[in-house]
Amino acid sequence: MVYSHSKLETYQNCPRKYKLSYLDRIPAEEEGIEAFLGSRFHEAMEKLYSELRFQLMSLDEVKAYYESTWQKNFHDKVKIVEEGRTADDYFRLGLKYIEDYYQHYYPFNQNKILGLEQELEIDLYGDRRYILKGFADRIDLRPDGVIEIHDYKTASQLPAQATADADRQLALYQLGIKQKWPWAEKFRLVWHYVAFDQEISSTRTPEQLEQLRDEIAALINRIETEKEFPPQESGLCQWCAYWAYCPLKKHLVELRKLPPNEYLAEEGVALVDKYISYLEKKKQAEEELEKLKEAIIKYAEENQVDRINGSEYSLTMVRKEIVRFPTRGQAERQKLENILREAGLWSALASLDLNSLEKAILEETLSSDVLEKIKNLVSREKLVMIRSGKKADNKDQTKI
Ligand code: SF4
Repeated sequence: MVYSHSKLETYQNCPRKYKLSYLDRIPAEEEGIEAFLGSRFHEAMEKLYSELRFQLMSLDEVKAYYESTWQKNFHDKVKIVEEGRTADDYFRLGLKYIEDYYQHYYPFNQNKILGLEQELEIDLYGDRRYILKGFADRIDLRPDGVIEIHDYKTASQLPAQATADADRQLALYQLGIKQKWPWAEKFRLVWHYVAFDQEISSTRTPEQLEQLRDEIAALINRIETEKEFPPQESGLCQWCAYWAYCPLKKHLVELRKLPPNEYLAEEGVALVDKYISYLEKKKQAEEELEKLKEAIIKYAEENQVDRINGSEYSLTMVRKEIVRFPTRGQAERQKLENILREAGLWSALASLDLNSLEKAILEETLSSDVLEKIKNLVSREKLVMIRSGKKADNKDQTKI
């Protein structure tokens, strides 16, 4: 499999979306207006720079080109997430980005252009085990010999310098350019945040590139051994085109197709509503029970009895002394553990940490030697837990 920065990023953001998009190859019909605008801006820049060999386009010509590609490509599955916004709002935003960019970099003769939408192949270790591909928006050669890798960003947030310094995409392209043009020595990574008319730049040391190689190889290994591809909800779900296939969103998609009178009768809706109503009753009952318990203990103490009789059942006070320990993570806990160790009581008194052991087994971080020895003592089971949460905000969920 050939990877790309966006494939890796998709997997990191949501493994299920990765599977739907790249393994099941389900076409995404919907496209967010932000991505649509980004593509049109990129096309306008490509046109502007590719024409430079022959002529310098005027600002009006670039804007007219942008408008023609906008109209040609617009389709009814372009999705506008932000309430109250129209496609025209975004179209005008793109025009503004073009104006600002044009005025900032006019007459576009600062550097020599080595590539536009340049396809790059990155063979991570030169043995064709890990292959990535990508397209650099623009590659420039500066008069002082530095290669600049440019990327246009139409995002509405300006990232911190630290984010640019940790960015994977352009650093990967640097690796690809070095493989393509071994004479290239010095690089500068440049992001144009056109909504702010701002450039952010960064460089990479050979050690950082080495580390990046290893991180990407580790990530690819993880993807290639992934079995579950769990859905991972986040703010990005708003722009995800796979709701109809996502186990966390599919039911909602089906419900939205139902007329209001059939909605409440739908089996899933009825089950959830019933479950939640019992849950609420259970919570109320637990609160009442707590109050009753206090009253019963008080009654027993005032009347000096340990058993109180009802009409069919009786309640018996069972008195027991317990010890409370500082919880894990508290400084006192560490102190307590140290005292037990120093007193030589650790192995006799400390118990097995089952939570950590479970984590080590599930994440397969135990040595195969130990795993083999304990395999008949432990078993792995799949449990289904139910969580409840407000439907409007499926992220805010409470475990019950
Ligand atoms: S809707 Fe969200 S959780 Fe579901 S596949 Fe898309 S990104 Fe993943």
